[in-house]
Amino acid sequence: MSNRRSFIQKAAIASVAFALDPFKNIAAAPERNVAVQKPIVLSTWRFGIQANEAAWKILSKNGRALDAVEAGVRVPEADPNERSVGYGGRPDRDGRVTLDACIMDENANIGSVACLEYIKHPISVARAVMEKTPHVMLVGEGALQFALAQGFPKENLLVEASEKEWKEWLKTSKYEPKANIENHDTIGMIALDAQGNLSGACTTSGMANKMHGRVGDSPIIGAGLYVDNEIGAATATGHGEEVIRIAGCHLVVELMRQGKTPQVACEEAVARIIKLTKQRNKPLKDIQVGFIALDKNGRHGAYCIQGGFNFALNDSSGNRLIDADYSLK
Ligand code: ASP
Repeated sequence: MSNRRSFIQKAAIASVAFALDPFKNIAAAPERNVAVQKPIVLSTWRFGIQANEAAWKILSKNGRALDAVEAGVRVPEADPNERSVGYGGRPDRDGRVTLDACIMDENANIGSVACLEYIKHPISVARAVMEKTPHVMLVGEGALQFALAQGFPKENLLVEASEKEWKEWLKTSKYEPKANIENHDTIGMIALDAQGNLSGACTTSGMANKMHGRVGDSPIIGAGLYVDNEIGAATATGHGEEVIRIAGCHLVVELMRQGKTPQVACEEAVARIIKLTKQRNKPLKDIQVGFIALDKNGRHGAYCIQGGFNFALNDSSGNRLIDADYSLK
């Protein structure tokens, strides 16, 4: 009798414990015992091709994913002809180039800067925030002071073409970001290295003609980027306000944790944005958001709201640009 009572008590305790830990039974992706595709690197938009090349130099020599993603996104950051990232980025409505970036490694170390001016490589400042401060995010003047103290050079980032375009824009001063119109874009990069570790980086000048001080999803861990070394990584591009609304990249990674493939996880996150946009009675036609995702097995996925988003993928089969599938057909 006492044995039976103790069995019943133990069973009751176990069921309470399960109720307190509802995730206990959720199968953790990725699947075990499948061939892992590594190294592999994925990044947003066509400038991802050159960025992947720089990342691949590190990954193919057994380098660390963190070093690869930083080196990769520094390529469009330094390119004055890439006018949505770093040097050459389009300014805000006051004519100021303000940059957002974040980085995350395999140990959940994170660093981020937002609304940073005069520094060509915000991703490296984000990495310095991660490695050299007790904080995870610095913004505006404070981020600039930190960058200068770290030895980053202060440079004018406003190139002639961006200034000319901004002066033209001042004639109407109408803020109207459009889907796939080249007045915004972001490089988000996620990689799995030969050791099987994941990292990610994300950097942008944000939406052209934004209000001064506006911050998008790109420097926000969980929105524009998320990495969980047990599960996978995701990064986003497009209308940052919509990505923040659903904590987009964290959602994609959590969906993978529940066993969804990277592709299905990206599709579900996009569906969530579409649903909320409709619920809020906002027009969908001008909204674009794209997600790319990679799981611990090196499987990838990508999905967006409107057609027109592409991403670059580099693995043992080479580096190529792929059109992402989309929802509004
Ligand atoms: N996500 C970026 C932002 O909202 C812009 C983009 O990727 O197009 O700042």
